[in-house]
Amino acid sequence: MAIKIYIDQGHSRGGVNGGAEGFGLVEQDITFQVGMYLADLLNNTPGYEAKLSRPTIDTVLGYNNSTSLAARVADANAWGADYFISIHCNASENPTYNGTEVYIYNELSRSFPLAQSILNQIVAEVGTRDNGVRVNSRLYVLRRTNMPSLLIELAYITNPQDAEKLRNNQFEFAQAIYDGIRIHLG
Ligand SMILES: [Zn+2]
Repeated sequence: MAIKIYIDQGHSRGGVNGGAEGFGLVEQDITFQVGMYLADLLNNTPGYEAKLSRPTIDTVLGYNNSTSLAARVADANAWGADYFISIHCNASENPTYNGTEVYIYNELSRSFPLAQSILNQIVAEVGTRDNGVRVNSRLYVLRRTNMPSLLIELAYITNPQDAEKLRNNQFEFAQAIYDGIRIHLG
């Protein structure tokens, strides 16, 4: 049985639930492409199967932010995913804030060691700052998924150095997430 990884590319085009912006970049386009690269890597690996929340750049889920999140979770639950990975970019009013963090629902979850492995690889391969694995039990996609879940904030779209990485290293982010998955799950 293949390990089924549901990849949720955060936000979408079309104004339903747009993401953060900075330096001419928009979050939903970065998360779309990183997810596409990651799905491609996984679907070309024996023993893995990946499904995307947004298979095309124009896919829109739901009609506002909460129904969009609900649609992603419902899709992952119906598919019977083994793991749920949501991809986002962080933003702050303080342009010096930078780095990668990975959110999990609770420290006892099986998602904790996977989150740590993915974070380690992003920091090592892309060169972002290590902001740690953090518990956040309020995030809807972590709360309502039936399987171990995590949410990756790749880097800060509002920090100039991070924004350059988000612009130029989208494949490297996907490769690092892939490597983190493979190191932990085999
Ligand atoms: Zn986001």
